Amino acid sequence: MLNAAAKVNLILEVLGKRDDGYHELVTVMQAVDLSDRITLEDAEVLELASSPGVPADGRNLALRAATALREAAGVTRGARITLDKRIPVAAGLGGGSADAAAVLLGLNRLWRLRWPVARLDEVATGLGMDVPFFLRGGTALATGRGERLEPLRGRSLGLVLVNPRFAVSTAEMYARVTPAMYTDGRHAKTLGGGLGGRSPARVAASLYNGLQEVAVAAYPPIGRMRAALLAAGALGALMSGSGPTVFGVARSFEHARQIRRRLTRGAWDCWAVRTLTGPAIRMAR
Ligand code: ATP
Repeated sequence: MLNAAAKVNLILEVLGKRDDGYHELVTVMQAVDLSDRITLEDAEVLELASSPGVPADGRNLALRAATALREAAGVTRGARITLDKRIPVAAGLGGGSADAAAVLLGLNRLWRLRWPVARLDEVATGLGMDVPFFLRGGTALATGRGERLEPLRGRSLGLVLVNPRFAVSTAEMYARVTPAMYTDGRHAKTLGGGLGGRSPARVAASLYNGLQEVAVAAYPPIGRMRAALLAAGALGALMSGSGPTVFGVARSFEHARQIRRRLTRGAWDCWAVRTLTGPAIRMAR
């Protein structure tokens, strides 16, 4: 069984719009220890069993990853993929991309392909811009559409994730972007050296997400979750990716657990998590 960890974006800047219609981004991605569980077994054909609320057909990124790798490697065997979702769906935490990366790494072993990660990257990029990040994990600066990666020094931090139990489509959020929201990469530069040696307070002071303002205007609970995290003692709070999940930075993991207890509210899901300095995809113990 594999654990596939979620991510948060400590920085997300939209630099502009490209000729191909996508936005040019610069983002600092951070793996966190809230994970989906994925089981891969040998089988004649490719098949997927998923958790309720997530499509189990060709729309599922985990199944698409398996199909794409099977074609690229000319494999004739199949696999039975079982997904146990823990990461909320369409939440800005990259859950589908994490599952896809886990399937690529897991099938690379099951099918004895021995492809290096750089070769898996070609399949990964075709599936989604966040997938190459999850093949590595830790902390990384991503540019372009998010697919060009530079590893950054990480550190263990305690975070609190808060999700309002509604989904937000990434495409819908990017459709709300206007040129007034463009920035020039200066926020990412403040974390350019990575997290190593930085106190939680300094990390909290560097947080930035160019999509947050428009997201809060469209979905007021996002603003309320941020305010609640700050009121409960978080050093800083930010929406992750295209939302709606918000995360708060704590002084330590124990402090994150305290904040989570203070936030326990019927309408929200809350987790105290640690940032991961190592791989996002790990064999489960
Ligand atoms: P990102 O921030 O990368 O856009 P996200 O966390 O906001 O990711 P996902 O959880 O990856 O979003 O889901 C986005 C959409 O993809 C949902 O509409 C969902 O139905 C679909 N989907 C396909 N495969 C998966 C999967 N394995 N897990 C979750 N959602 C999936």
